[in-house]
Formats: sequence, C-alpha cells, structure tokens
Amino acid sequence: MNVTDPVCNMEVDEKTAVTTECDGDISYFCSEGCKEKFLNGQICKLPRTSYDLIIIGGGPAGLTAAVYAATLKMDVFLIAKDLGGQAFDSTKIANYMGYDFITGPELIEKFQDQLIHSNYIDHLISEVEKIEPAEGGFIITTAELKKFFTKSVIIAAGMARRKLNVEGEETFQRMGVFSGNIQDLSFVQGEDVAVVGGGNSVLQMVENLQGVARNIHLVSVTELTADPSIIERLRGMHNVEIYELHKVVALKGDRTLSGVTIRKLAGETTVDLQVKGIFIAIGLQPSPILDSRMVNLNDRGEIMINPDCSTSYPGIFAAGDVTDAFGKRIVIASGEGAKAALAARQYIIDLRKRAA
Ligand SMILES: Cc1cc2nc3c(=O)[nH]c(=O)nc-3n(C[C@H](O)[C@H](O)[C@H](O)COP(=O)(O)OP(=O)(O)OC[C@H]3O[C@@H](n4cnc5c(N)ncnc54)[C@H](O)[C@@H]3O)c2cc1C
Repeated sequence: MNVTDPVCNMEVDEKTAVTTECDGDISYFCSEGCKEKFLNGQICKLPRTSYDLIIIGGGPAGLTAAVYAATLKMDVFLIAKDLGGQAFDSTKIANYMGYDFITGPELIEKFQDQLIHSNYIDHLISEVEKIEPAEGGFIITTAELKKFFTKSVIIAAGMARRKLNVEGEETFQRMGVFSGNIQDLSFVQGEDVAVVGGGNSVLQMVENLQGVARNIHLVSVTELTADPSIIERLRGMHNVEIYELHKVVALKGDRTLSGVTIRKLAGETTVDLQVKGIFIAIGLQPSPILDSRMVNLNDRGEIMINPDCSTSYPGIFAAGDVTDAFGKRIVIASGEGAKAALAARQYIIDLRKRAA
C-alpha cells in the first residue's frame, strides 16, 4: 500500500519506506533525510521557506540540477509535481550515455536515488502556480498556496501533453481517455480503441495496443507525419484502420467512454466509432509556468536561454525541454540542468560579493 511522506508529500510504499514510531503512530518517509527533517521538528515547528536556489521540475533537467547544486553545497530546494517527468513514459532508452539500453522508469529510479539517498536534497511534491519578483529574489507560490522565498530559480518544468480540447476529455480521464505510454492496458483488453496522432509516438502506442485491443482506429488531423518506415508498418497492420485528415469532435459515454465521433476536415461527414478507449498522442507543449512579461519566450512558448542557461530576467535560469535549446532528449536536458546549477551558483556568489 502507498502512504504519503509527511515531509515531502511523496507517495511511498509502506513496505519499503523508511519509518519511525512516535507515540504509537508510525510515520513513513522516502528517505533518511526526510525522516531526519521530521524528527528535527523542522516541519511541524518552523518550516523553512527561504533558500538561495529553488528548482522547479523533477524531470531529467530538474533532478540533475538538484543533484549538481547539492554537490556544489548550495542551499537548494526542489519543488516538482512528480519525480521523473516525461522519461517515465519512455519504454526503451537506447541513447543515454553509460547504458546500451535502459527503460525510463529504471533510469528515473537511479536519478531519484541520487536525489533522496546519495545526496539528500530538500524537496516537495507539489505544483508551482506562480513565480513573482520580490525584494532580493522571488516568491514562489504552490497550488496549496505555500509561499517560498528564493534568491534564484531554475525552471525545469519540461513539456506538458497537448489536449484534444473536446468535451468529456477530463471526465473520462483513465475511464477511457488515456495520454502517454500506459503500462496497464487491461481496461481495453479485447475491445476496439482509437489512437489520435500522426507522428512517430503513435507507432509506440499502436504497438503497445497490438495483441491487447481488437481493432485500432488511427485518427490524424493531418496526413501521417511519422517516418516513412513507421507509416509503412502502420499501413501493414491488419487490425489498424487509418483516418487521415479527420478530427475528433465528440467523446460519448456514461461513466466510462463508449464512443468517439470524428469528422472529415473537408465537409461535414462524421463517423461514429464504438470504442472503449481513446489514446492521445498529439505531441507536447512547454509547461505554461511563466508569462512572457517576466522572461522572453519564443513563438513556440519556450523560454529563451543564453549559453549559460540564464534568461532575460536576472536570477531566473531555465533548463531542459521548457527552453529553446536545440534537441529534446534526456541526455541534453540533464546536461542543461547541470549547466544551470553551475550558473546559478556563480550568480549567488556574485550577489554575495556585491553585498559584502
Ligand atoms: C514517450 C516518450 C519517449 C521518449 N523517449 C526518449 C528516449 O528514448 N530518449 C531520450 O533521450 N528522450 C526521450 N524522450 C524525451 C525526454 O523524455 C525529454 O526530452 C526529457 O524528459 C526532458 O526532460 P525535462 O526535465 O526538461 O522535462 P520533463 O521530463 O518534461 O520534466 C518536467 C518536470 O517538471 C514538472 N513540472 C511541470 N510543471 C510544473 C509546475 N508548475 N510545478 C512543479 N513541477 C512542474 C513535471 O511534473 C516534471 O517533473 C521521450 C519522451 C516521451 C514523451
């Protein structure tokens, strides 16, 4: 059974968690570091709310930045909605240095180990809602309206999945509507499904569904844009029907999804597909964490960074997929995270020198 670490909010397995007993109550922690923080009473008596550096995001960029900052002995805090980011969705990573092959969850487990066991770093599982300038730094506000002061920030909030923006998309989440790489496909065992998208990630989704779903309807608003070899494989699959230049216009169902209506782009012709699941693979967009009044964004909404990961706002650094850096890859995001931590450290040293 999973329980929540009272210090950092992380979900931990009751069987493997670090524990302590106090007045007959057992508390469960992700690490010795969080247990120590709990026992020191920092959490219940005087929670820390001020740091030299706050890192936002727990993907490869944020986790690497955090571990780097810790090894540089910085006063650092990590706030992330999850520890892993998109890398969790990757079933086969064949392009990360040091491994011929590793799965996303395995690689992330190693990153997490470095964060909470090898170099304990203060962290909180939460969503950052606002970053505002303040005297000498920034105020970061989380979804629970907790406020933290920091002299510098690294934004490593990565990419968020694009949505269909069709009514019912939220209501049927995991009750028929799925995004990303789903490990447990039992919900659609032996059923007909729709997959939406036309790029390379569609193949991974269709391959995962082969042997699980009965018929697969592939719906793309454009002609298929995946690599020609992938398109050839998709067209050769006996139970895949392809609807190019079609748009999903309605999701139907009661408690769970029972059907999808698609419409041909040219004209009003609609087709009703009786499906139990719809799998959305229509790409990613930068997380909408900042508005362009604070840091310069490019026309794709990515944060524009300098070679040292600094942005147009002094004290704000950014790393990974959320930036305009070339190449959306784990190894690149990790490298940029390390660079951002080095640059943030230099920024803090310079601030101290100016104050002295
Ligand atoms: C299906 C799939 C397969 C892939 N396969 C590969 C591969 O084989 N090899 C490869 O190199 N790359 C692969 N990639 C790309 C790779 O995963 C990304 O380039 C990499 O994860 C980017 O890291 P990041 O840290 O910049 O962002 P992300 O991984 O997107 O992490 C962002 C983090 O920020 C958090 N966050 C977002 N907003 C907030 C907020 N407001 N407050 C707090 N936290 C927030 C998120 O929860 C997450 O923890 C794949 C991606 C996908 C989707």
